[in-house]
Amino acid sequence: MDAAACIGCGACVAACKNSSAMLFVSAKVSHLALLPQGRAEAKARVLNMVAKMDELGFGNCTNTGACEAECPKSISLDNIARLNREYLLARIFG
Ligand code: SF4
Repeated sequence: MDAAACIGCGACVAACKNSSAMLFVSAKVSHLALLPQGRAEAKARVLNMVAKMDELGFGNCTNTGACEAECPKSISLDNIARLNREYLLARIFG
């Protein structure tokens, strides 16, 4: 439940050379995906959140880790791995 600690401050986006919002989005996707109540909408949620992130012009993650280093809530890059896994599964089995 560490992902639930995200306060949406945007420091991760500001620190990223690609202006990627992956850490913030992954914290929200992880937080909700890990709750039993959140599973029902997990596929639609991850697809919609990634689509919105792309639509708004945020950059892609290139694993530099600046976001994790700057995050005041110590949100882990592991959440980005979970976001990618959730996204792939939703695309394949959605
Ligand atoms: S820096 Fe950390 S707490 Fe702030 S929005 Fe990004 S993931 Fe959330």
